[in-house]
Amino acid sequence: MPNHYQILVIGGGNAGLSVASQLLRKKSNLTIGIIDPSEKHYYQPAWTLVGAGIFDVNKTIRNEKDVIPKNTTWIKETVSEFMPAENKVKCLTGDEFTYDYLVVCPGIQLDWSKIKGLTETLGKNNISSNYSFQYAPYTWEMIENFKGGTAVFTNPSTPIKCGGAPHKIMYLACDYWRKKGILDKCDVHYISGASVIFGVKEYAETLKELISRYNIHVHYGANVTAVDGENKTVEFETKEIDENLNQKLSSENAGSFEITKDSAQEELKKVTLKFDLCHVVPPQSAPDFIKNSPLRDPQNVQGYVEVDKNTLQHSRFSNVFALGDCINAPCSKTGAAIRKQAPVVVENLLAVMDKKTVTAQYEGYSACPIPTQYGKLMLAEFDYTNTPKMTFPINQAKPNWAMWILKTKILPWLYWNKILKGTA
Ligand SMILES: Cc1cc2nc3c(=O)[nH]c(=O)nc-3n(C[C@H](O)[C@H](O)[C@H](O)COP(=O)(O)OP(=O)(O)OC[C@H]3O[C@@H](n4cnc5c(N)ncnc54)[C@H](O)[C@@H]3O)c2cc1C
Repeated sequence: MPNHYQILVIGGGNAGLSVASQLLRKKSNLTIGIIDPSEKHYYQPAWTLVGAGIFDVNKTIRNEKDVIPKNTTWIKETVSEFMPAENKVKCLTGDEFTYDYLVVCPGIQLDWSKIKGLTETLGKNNISSNYSFQYAPYTWEMIENFKGGTAVFTNPSTPIKCGGAPHKIMYLACDYWRKKGILDKCDVHYISGASVIFGVKEYAETLKELISRYNIHVHYGANVTAVDGENKTVEFETKEIDENLNQKLSSENAGSFEITKDSAQEELKKVTLKFDLCHVVPPQSAPDFIKNSPLRDPQNVQGYVEVDKNTLQHSRFSNVFALGDCINAPCSKTGAAIRKQAPVVVENLLAVMDKKTVTAQYEGYSACPIPTQYGKLMLAEFDYTNTPKMTFPINQAKPNWAMWILKTKILPWLYWNKILKGTA
C-alpha cells in the first residue's frame, strides 16, 4: 500500500465517503486514500426510529468494505496525529502517510464518561441512549414496557450531532403512551442544557404546542452531571428551579436539591430527580486527536477544526479542508448539512489543485426531521441565519405524513444508494 496520496481523507463516514465519491465523479484519475479503522459503517439518523420500535437496527449497518468508493484505497488505521506543516498524518500503529491535500472528517466524540455513572448503567436499569447502535434497541424495550411514572429525557449543554434527536424520541414515546392510554400516568421531563426548544422560531412554535399537548415539563439551562442506575436518579445543575420542578421535588420521594456554587462562584442548584425511565444524550466534543492538533480552532472550547465557515477550507493550512460533525462552523451537525457541504469542499479543493481561488460557498444549510407522533413529521430546514429554508411547496412547520415517509423510507434508501455514491 502506498504511503503518499494526492488526497487523503480522514474518516470514512457520511462526510468522507460523500466527498471521495464526488471527487472521483469529477476527476476519475485522482489518487485518494481513506483512513478509517472501522469495519462497519452506520446510518445513524435511523437510530431514532430504532428507539421508537419502527426500524430494524440491522438495516442501519453495513460493512465498510461494501460502501467504500471503488478506485480509492482504504487504509484500515486510526489517525492519532496531524502534522500539517509536513503534509503528514501519523497513525496509532506508528505508520505515517503523506498527502498533497487533506480532507478531515472523523465525526464527533461522544463524551459518555462526562456524566458520572453513565457508562456503568447504560443499557440496563431503564437507562438508554439512541446515540449508540448498541443501545438504541433498548430504548424501544423501555418505552414499550413502560407502565407510567417519571420519564426523563436529557439534552447536554454542548453542541451535539442532530440537535433534534434528544427530543424527537420524547415525542414518539409520548405518542406511544398516549395510544396505549397511559400518558396521563406519565410525568415526562425534558432536562436540557439549551435555553430554547429549537433555534428557529417558526419550528419552535410547533414544538411548544406539542410540549403542552403531551404535558411535558421542560427544564432549560440544566446540565446533567450524574446518573445512578440502581437508585434510579439523575443529577443536574441549574440556576433556577421553576414551579413545575419545585412541585415535583416537594412530592413524596421524587427528589431533592441542594445549593452549590459554580467556578465563577455563582449560585447553582444541584437537583437529584428520581425517574422510572431515562433517555440520555451524552456531551460531545471534537475527537481528542483533533483537540490536540494544530488543526483545532484554539478559541473553540470543544476543540473543533478551524475552517472558514463558507468555503470549508482550513483557516491556516490552505491544502486542508474539513466538513461534517468535526468542524467549528456554527451550523447544525447533521447528515443533511453534509449533503450541502460536500459539493463545496469538492469544488474548492479542485480549485486549489488548479491554483484557482476558492469560490464555492456553504451557507450553513441544515435540516432536522422531527417526528411529532407516529405517522407525522415536521421537516425543519434552515441556514446560518436561522431562517426557514423550506424545500417543499408546503408549510413544513406543520407536521405531515409525506415528510414522515421521507424520513422513514426515502432518506435511508437515498443514503445507501445515492449520497454515499456521490450522486445526491
Ligand atoms: C441518534 C442520531 C440521530 C440523528 N438524526 C439525524 C437526522 O435525522 N438527520 C441528519 O441529517 N443527521 C442525523 N444525525 C447526524 C448524522 O448521523 C451525523 O451528522 C453524520 O453521520 C456525520 O457524519 P461524519 O462523516 O461527520 O461523521 P460519521 O458519520 O460519524 O463518521 C466518522 C468516521 O470517522 C471515523 N474515525 C473516527 N476517528 C477516526 C480516526 N482517529 N482515524 C480515522 N478515522 C476515524 C469513524 O470510524 C467514522 O467512520 C443523527 C445522529 C444520531 C446519533
